Amino acid sequence: MDGLARAGALTAYGAEAAGCVRCALSETRNRVVFGSGDPDADLMLVGEAPGFQEDQGGAPFAGQAGELLERLLAGIGFQRDDVYLANVLKCRPPQNRDPLESEIASCEPHLFRQVELVRPRVVVTLGNFATKLLSGRPSGITQVHGQEREVAVGATTVVLFPLYHPAAALYTPSMLQALEDDFSRLPALLGRASPPPSVPARVVEIEATAPLVEDEAVAVGTTIQLGLF
Ligand code: URA
Repeated sequence: MDGLARAGALTAYGAEAAGCVRCALSETRNRVVFGSGDPDADLMLVGEAPGFQEDQGGAPFAGQAGELLERLLAGIGFQRDDVYLANVLKCRPPQNRDPLESEIASCEPHLFRQVELVRPRVVVTLGNFATKLLSGRPSGITQVHGQEREVAVGATTVVLFPLYHPAAALYTPSMLQALEDDFSRLPALLGRASPPPSVPARVVEIEATAPLVEDEAVAVGTTIQLGLF
């Protein structure tokens, strides 16, 4: 599929997802917050879940965390519309509570399909939920932030780059410093990462391939099948 066809497929998929009733969040949400930005972006950023403002407006990262994200992006020469933004959950959890495992399992096919259709070179996972889901590993963000590794999402191999969540960094100066330091490495990473080949896939897998960083504890070549859609 070329870029235009993938963009069309993403729009169609988003329209379908707007009526999603895969989990109980469909009963309390105001809007499905599917994703926004360049459907052919080299850089995709994945947060946790929509909050109040996102649920009202329908686009991810509308609040203070989004402002910080925009500032960080501007620092490396990007605007919001140059990248693709999405979340692990497409619907707001009541009172902004943490996503439930069952909700993540219900919602993950949407994110995996977004990755396959956007075909970014680099996927930045913001915080624990996105990092654990897309790495297929239990390691927390404090341990793995700033450590890039290749993963396969279905047929799409991307460089995963976990970072602290901007909402957390807003209130913790040391975290903000680490986030800024990690962010400044993105241009080099984008330069090194090659575009993923375009192969349609229906089985969504996360495959740990040779990491770009030292990680002795991790078996290389392990494939974890995360779901079907
Ligand atoms: N807004 C989002 O869209 N996602 C987050 O993870 C936080 C705020």
